[in-house]
Amino acid sequence: MVVQPALDASSAGQAGFGDDIFTSMHDVIALDADDTLWRNEDLYRDTQAEFRALLAHYHDPAWIDARLYEAEMRNLPHFGYGIKAFILSMVETAVELTEGRITGAEVQRVVELGRAMIQAPIELLDGVHETVVSLAERHELVIVTKGDLLEQESKVERSGLREHFRGVEIVSRKDRRTYEAIARRRGIAPQDFVMVGNSLRSDVLPVVAMGGLGVHIPYHTTWAHEEVDEEERARHVYVELQSIRELPEWIASGA
Ligand SMILES: [Mg+2]
Repeated sequence: MVVQPALDASSAGQAGFGDDIFTSMHDVIALDADDTLWRNEDLYRDTQAEFRALLAHYHDPAWIDARLYEAEMRNLPHFGYGIKAFILSMVETAVELTEGRITGAEVQRVVELGRAMIQAPIELLDGVHETVVSLAERHELVIVTKGDLLEQESKVERSGLREHFRGVEIVSRKDRRTYEAIARRRGIAPQDFVMVGNSLRSDVLPVVAMGGLGVHIPYHTTWAHEEVDEEERARHVYVELQSIRELPEWIASGA
């Protein structure tokens, strides 16, 4: 669904439909990071496959996946998002599923899987570098990412994109209140707030709910926790682009 925000009539009359209007409308563009700027969920999926293989002689794969997801959901309010929380959930699941029979060496292997995730190189998604460079020439860009502070800071630094962003907001959750607080702090009217991301649940719908503009760029895989059912999607109006490469043109069109 495509949103068509109304242009301010007086400024449109003065300056026509030139770039000035649109840059003033969308001075600030907020972007999600994981699976919007760089690969992330794949890393979790790959690690989970190794975790499954590690426990294969104890249980069947579907059962392991289900129990791990339960542990993640149970731990989320306590440990938050990120790799360290994922490691703890894997350890807990391994102990539970083996009824304590997991060996110290196997626990060590789980921790190593997590460490490898933390140290994995940042792989920017297709078109991200050139798009960010181009957008940064005309707009203030801000990263809004949720997760572990140290982990997300490290990823931003290692991405090579930091210099193109005016600010980085690392938050523990992405709900309407979080976005309202960011908009207030940065002096952006809610209706001028543009947020771009791969998660409808975290990046798009809460921003739409506060009156801003949510731009969804789907990634090929989505964590079950971030999924939104059809009914929920239909209730909201947001923009969907197939690639971040489409973003500058869409912004410039004033859509
Ligand atoms: Mg994301």
